[in-house]
Amino acid sequence: MGVLDRSILWPYDDKGDPRAYFYSRYAHPTVVEAEERLGELDRGTAVLFPSGTGAATALVLSLLKPGDTIALGAGVYYGTSVLFKTLAPWGLEHVEFDQTGPPPDGVQLVWVEAPSNPFLTMPDLEAAVAHPAPVVVDSTAATPVLLRPLEQGADFVLHSATKYLGGHDDILLGVVVCRDPTAAEELKVFRGRTGITPASDPAWLLLRSLRTLEARVLRQSASAAIIAERLGRHPKVSVVRFPHLGALLSFDVADGDAARRVETSTRLIVNSTSLGSVSSLIESRARWEGDRVPAGLLRLSVGLEDPEAIWADLAQALDRA
Ligand code: PLP
Repeated sequence: MGVLDRSILWPYDDKGDPRAYFYSRYAHPTVVEAEERLGELDRGTAVLFPSGTGAATALVLSLLKPGDTIALGAGVYYGTSVLFKTLAPWGLEHVEFDQTGPPPDGVQLVWVEAPSNPFLTMPDLEAAVAHPAPVVVDSTAATPVLLRPLEQGADFVLHSATKYLGGHDDILLGVVVCRDPTAAEELKVFRGRTGITPASDPAWLLLRSLRTLEARVLRQSASAAIIAERLGRHPKVSVVRFPHLGALLSFDVADGDAARRVETSTRLIVNSTSLGSVSSLIESRARWEGDRVPAGLLRLSVGLEDPEAIWADLAQALDRA
């Protein structure tokens, strides 16, 4: 982990030619170091962005043209469908499909999520990569510790690095890891031209976080398995969604009022949006997603705390459901 360089410019050499680094919108040494580490984790070539959403925006705008259609896994991260709707006036279409089966014909990009947030379904990666269109796997919730989609034939992996990769609720970043190094170079050119460029401070904090990624993900996933099993036996809980891959789960209580009572009654678990933190986070998703999700659905991102303490907190909150 190198020294943080906050420069945005570096002088030309003695002959007046640009050096490897000359203006940070094109390349920055701390960002490059973070990209090298992220590339190693996912076995590809990484391109860093200022958020997961910025990464998604750059990826679709650089790969597609007006009139093209994205096949989007149904029930994936709500913000991704909102982003694609926002881009519709520029001629980018999208259709939703059940990602546990094959994508539809006649699309120019396939976009799945492993596992999906907040429904926790796993995509059929074999069926997705058999499709002629390039395949993007948003693997934010799995992390490269538990899943490496490029090794299964995906073309691009996307992470909101704000979540597990960052892990400490202090950075907003995103990354696209490309199987083909040429595709990564093209994406970097697009990033430099459009200015969807990450800053050096969060990139440095990401390097700090990556040193503990594996330990965090393994412990949080093991704790999540304990919590999911106990939730499954709780009389106030009707459904538990837990794919045994990662530390994210969701479960349903009776209705929206019950969900609101549970999320506002926790003391250790933070009632907040986001996921992937060392702190356990809970929220009712209907507040954002409306009737796209059951009114009583609560999303729980299991953190690094003692699993017995997490369960004790959840159990006392569920008493109020
Ligand atoms: N992908 C997934 C699965 C997410 O959960 C999120 C955010 O919650 C994003 C992408 C977007 O990431 P960001 O908030 O860093 O823009």
